[in-house]
Amino acid sequence: MRTCVGCRERTSCSALLRVVARTGSSGTAELVPDVRRSLPGRGAWIHADLACLDRAEKRRSFARALRVTTPVDVSGLRAHLEQNL
Ligand SMILES: [Zn+2]
Repeated sequence: MRTCVGCRERTSCSALLRVVARTGSSGTAELVPDVRRSLPGRGAWIHADLACLDRAEKRRSFARALRVTTPVDVSGLRAHLEQNL
């Protein structure tokens, strides 16, 4: 069981998308969708849903879940979700 960082609902991993942070060119923490759940490092879990992304972004849930202190860039993850709706 995992908790969605957006809506805080607890559900099985298979219902959620794993997300990891990668250091971007400007020092931001770029969020990367880990579709195969194989990337190393700490992961955050979220529904593949823009509403959950918005909530997670507003609450800074990704920074907390991924233990990053730099600004979080969700643009790559947002584009991924928009393409997969
Ligand atoms: Zn959710």
